[in-house]
Amino acid sequence: MSADEEHKHTCKYCDSDTKEDIVKMSLWEGEQLIVVENVPARICEGCLEQFYDSNVLLRVDQLRGRAFPVEDAKRIMEVPVFSLPEDNSNDPEKKQDWQSRIDYDLFSDAL
Ligand SMILES: [Zn+2]
Repeated sequence: MSADEEHKHTCKYCDSDTKEDIVKMSLWEGEQLIVVENVPARICEGCLEQFYDSNVLLRVDQLRGRAFPVEDAKRIMEVPVFSLPEDNSNDPEKKQDWQSRIDYDLFSDAL
């Protein structure tokens, strides 16, 4: 097996190739939004799904096990929080077209 094949990884959702990258991971711990940066991952070139090595997930889990101690945080980030106003259009013809965030990201990139 060549070094190239060794690092090959195919997306389990869409079978596209994935490429290595360093990403930010965001997760909710109760009401608190946590960001972990500098996370090695593989990103699917087709559907943008991110894959993490089990060792990386273990290290994140260890942080979670310690309830993400704020004294270990690199910095504190302020995030804008929005709320979608209620949609009052009440159009009975309006069809619900459920899409995932990933579908939307691909769609908005194409605009
Ligand atoms: Zn994919």
